[in-house]
This record gives sequence, structure tokens and C-alpha cells, in this order.
Amino acid sequence: MRDAQADVARRAWIGCPRCADQNGCATCSVGSTCESHWRFLLAAEGRKLFVQCPGCWHRWWHDSGFGVGDRPHGIDPVVDFPGAGAAA
Ligand SMILES: [Zn+2]
Ligand SMILES: [Zn+2]
Repeated sequence: MRDAQADVARRAWIGCPRCADQNGCATCSVGSTCESHWRFLLAAEGRKLFVQCPGCWHRWWHDSGFGVGDRPHGIDPVVDFPGAGAAA
């Protein structure tokens, strides 16, 4: 099922290892931000991204490999905002 943190405003262009629906897609093969084959970006920890496939609901940690030149498109750092009432 869809993760509670899944937000269409936070997406990552990473191939899904389970359904691999990006295979054979011309847009994905050139590294563009495909309208069909994106994943929900749920969390980030260091260079690891926790993503969910909207096609098969598979969730997994993806090593983005920051610093080696293959950073996926469309990745924004995830910032944890303090909850209401936490401000001093
Ligand atoms: Zn999938
Ligand atoms: Zn695609």
C-alpha cells in the first residue's frame, strides 16, 4: 500500500528493482525525468534514499552514490521540520 509519507511533490527517478517498469523506456534510458517511471521519495539518510514505487508499492533503500557522478535527477535534500509546538 501507499506509504503515509508518499508525496507526489517529492519524486526520485530511480529504476524499480521489482517491477523494472522503466526497462525499455526511451525517456528513462537517456536519464530524463520520465512522466511515467518515477518513485516516491520517502526519506533520505546520507547518500541513501528510501523510495517507493507507485506501480508495485515496493519500498527500498537506494544508494544514490553521491560524489561519483551518477546522481539521479530530481533529488532534493529532505529536511525534517520540527513539529508544531517544538519551537522555542
Ligand atoms: Zn515497482
Ligand atoms: Zn520512463
